[in-house]
Amino acid sequence: MEPRKVYLDNSATTQVDKKVLETMLPYFSERYGNPNSLHAWGREARAAVDNARSQVASLIGAEPKDVIFTGGGSEADNLAIKGTAWALKDKGKHIITSCIEHHALLHTVEWLSKMGYEYTILPVDKYGFVDPAELEKAIRPDTILTSIMFANNEIGTVEPVAELGEVCRRHGVLFHTDGVQATGHVKIDMKELPVDMMSMAAHKMYGPKGVGGLYVRKGIKLNPVIHGGGQEFGLRAGTENTPGIVGFGKAAEMAAERQANGELEHEAMLRDKLINGILERIPDTRLTGHRAQRLPYHASVCVKYIEGEGMLLLMDAAGIAVSSGSACTSGSLEASHVLLSIGLDAPTAHGSVRLTLSKDTTEEDIDYVLEQFPPIVQRLREMSPFYNKQ
Ligand SMILES: *Cc1c(COP(=O)(O)O)cnc(C)c1O
Repeated sequence: MEPRKVYLDNSATTQVDKKVLETMLPYFSERYGNPNSLHAWGREARAAVDNARSQVASLIGAEPKDVIFTGGGSEADNLAIKGTAWALKDKGKHIITSCIEHHALLHTVEWLSKMGYEYTILPVDKYGFVDPAELEKAIRPDTILTSIMFANNEIGTVEPVAELGEVCRRHGVLFHTDGVQATGHVKIDMKELPVDMMSMAAHKMYGPKGVGGLYVRKGIKLNPVIHGGGQEFGLRAGTENTPGIVGFGKAAEMAAERQANGELEHEAMLRDKLINGILERIPDTRLTGHRAQRLPYHASVCVKYIEGEGMLLLMDAAGIAVSSGSACTSGSLEASHVLLSIGLDAPTAHGSVRLTLSKDTTEEDIDYVLEQFPPIVQRLREMSPFYNKQ
């Protein structure tokens, strides 16, 4: 019998759903028109892009013309931050963000600070929450933008986005949220949420890599980051990635169906089984992030007296994919900025493991992980000089 394979690294990327792939395939070769051409080939591609825009908008309760397609989540973050910074530079040059953001956000803000912009980085509490009162205190007369992520990729915490957005709205400050981990996985309705802009990425929700989107509420002025033709309402030049966009649209449609079918609740149930099982079976282990206010597919723990990288490799040998820290920071030995921000010391942070489920994860998969994980930790601890001293 083949040994079981369990992929629990869905925060890094997800498998393209078979139906999504099928929907995309004709747009590579049979329906190859440029959506900007006026002939039948072009009109066919344009209709497909328009349809995808409606599908993505519908998932988040937005209008189709409020969705700008980009080349992924990082690009959407860049467009939101740089686009606002340039558009509003005469109004002010102060930006607020948080210490647990993705590097697509933090490095963009740092880069802007070399161009004469200023920024404030808000702290988080032990669960990773940004406090709306702290945000209010940080707002200055020259603040133009606040960007706080919808949900964190490393610890799964879902931020109080409605409260944070409300504070910004009261003070006339634009509010952007990096929704890459949350889109499709959390119910989001832009008719209710005081959010002005939100970044999305198809590959975190069973769509293809290299395509994403920025939701931009009607009336908000942005400058483009990529200049050229007038595509995407003049905000993102370049011939549209028709197959990718079509795949993103289909992935969005399917996410909406899963939400309507109660699949988020099912996923959260499996997540809790995994979290509880780990905490019960492995001593000296703690959950990172909040117990309930977390992404329905996200489990993350710190296992004391071990190195996350070593554990990742032994889990891999057992056919299980997990991550330690975030995919971008692994490979370096620096502790993750997110784990340090929630108050963990560096040795504890080095024992971080993230296990992120997919829509296709089964209860048997979870049972297999709960059977394999504890002896792996035990093996590693027996080799650790810190553990032997206990
Ligand atoms: C994955 C991720 C990104 C980057 O998205 P790409 O499509 O890989 O560029 C940005 N923010 C968060 C929170 C992410 O998880």
